[in-house]
Amino acid sequence: MDKVVSLCKRRGFIFQSSDIYGGLANTWDYGPYGVELKNNVKRAWWKSVVYERFDILGMDAAILMNPKVWEASGHVNNFFDLKSDCKFCKKRFKTEDLKDKKKCPECGGELTEPKSFNLMFETNYGSVTDKSGIMYLRPETAQGMFVNFSNILDSRHPRLPFGLAQIGKAFRNEITPGNFTFRTREFEQMEIEYFVRPEEADKKLEEWIQARFDWYLNLGINKDNLRKHPHGSNELAHYAKACTDVEYNFPFGWSELEGIANRTDFDLKQHAKFSGKDLQYFDDVKKERFYPYIIEPSGGVDRAVLAFLVNAYHEEKVKDDLRVVLKLHKDLAPVKVAVLPLLRNRPEIVELARKIAQGLKKDIITVYDDTGAIGKLYRRQDEVGTPFCITVDVQSLEDNQATVRERDTMQQERINIDKLKEYLKNKFNEGDR
Ligand code: ATP
Repeated sequence: MDKVVSLCKRRGFIFQSSDIYGGLANTWDYGPYGVELKNNVKRAWWKSVVYERFDILGMDAAILMNPKVWEASGHVNNFFDLKSDCKFCKKRFKTEDLKDKKKCPECGGELTEPKSFNLMFETNYGSVTDKSGIMYLRPETAQGMFVNFSNILDSRHPRLPFGLAQIGKAFRNEITPGNFTFRTREFEQMEIEYFVRPEEADKKLEEWIQARFDWYLNLGINKDNLRKHPHGSNELAHYAKACTDVEYNFPFGWSELEGIANRTDFDLKQHAKFSGKDLQYFDDVKKERFYPYIIEPSGGVDRAVLAFLVNAYHEEKVKDDLRVVLKLHKDLAPVKVAVLPLLRNRPEIVELARKIAQGLKKDIITVYDDTGAIGKLYRRQDEVGTPFCITVDVQSLEDNQATVRERDTMQQERINIDKLKEYLKNKFNEGDR
């Protein structure tokens, strides 16, 4: 884990937030490569759940919502953990994580009695400072989709089963954040709310568990490090009838990437009750009016990014050197191609290399780098997971060919410079390059 964290900082994937002020604990900023990787993860998700299907519509709801939403959803009353504070060192712990509920695991001091602690962040809305102005930063994106259910029915007239998909920030005042970006207080979710006839819910739940599991595998997660964890009845959230997590074997142990739950008709019924609006679905063929059940695949963007990074990190011995390489799936790699001149003191080579990079840039995400010797340039690209490096050398000036080096195999191939774009385009899906 330390090696991945250090690579993330060294190469510009992820930095400590507010670093120059000593940081803000457990808060992270995505740097130039990190934002590309994160966007690629979100794009791959959106593509697989919205663009490649007919039955899911995308949306983007506001983070701030009417506070009644959180009463209806149950978050005001149910979304809390028990905390215990050390009377001596003042550290705070999640009570369920403590072996000895009376003694501080860090300093041995006496702990307070467990107290419940709501995980929602409160803020004030507008100029009102009394209780009536209290708002919450959403702890999940899901509610933005439930409250738009009737807007979607009225504007798009979808037939069951259909779903809504959304990616966005969520906030939870976690008692014990940690493990780098795995558990933070501000994070991004990618969630689907899939509306089904109640009698189809069990079947659709199984289909979604498999579809989401396969999504991680198709993007290169090693199958030995991915598993499904069905929840026992004592693990279920207050709204769920059944849930299975997709877990990844991180260096700190098996941990949840995504939960796929059967939320039943709990949410729509609650919102109908609290808002006074009829949120039933009308089946115009069967002439029936009813509340659909909801299957919810809910994943964390940051956790997926972390799993892809950990999964991709490899150290290999090459001759007497250690090669660090990120074997990211090519759709996820932040940069697809790097063009490198073999001799940076030869203006004709530099000029040709720049011209090649410029020509590719419009169609494929390409960088140009001449700030080191070729060995160093390759190392740099390996560490950020660039799938292809193109080297321009003296011979290129004569035979109009360049060397294409593939990241994982390190195999090299001479390709005619005029054919490079076509050669590389064929290696990537449109939209992913
Ligand atoms: P955990 O048990 O790890 O706290 P959860 O079961 O409370 O997670 P859900 O409410 O199911 O999480 O949220 C759906 C997804 O959102 C999780 O699978 C995870 O990927 C992501 N997520 C939830 N909390 C956090 C967090 N504090 N930091 C980063 N991602 C999170």
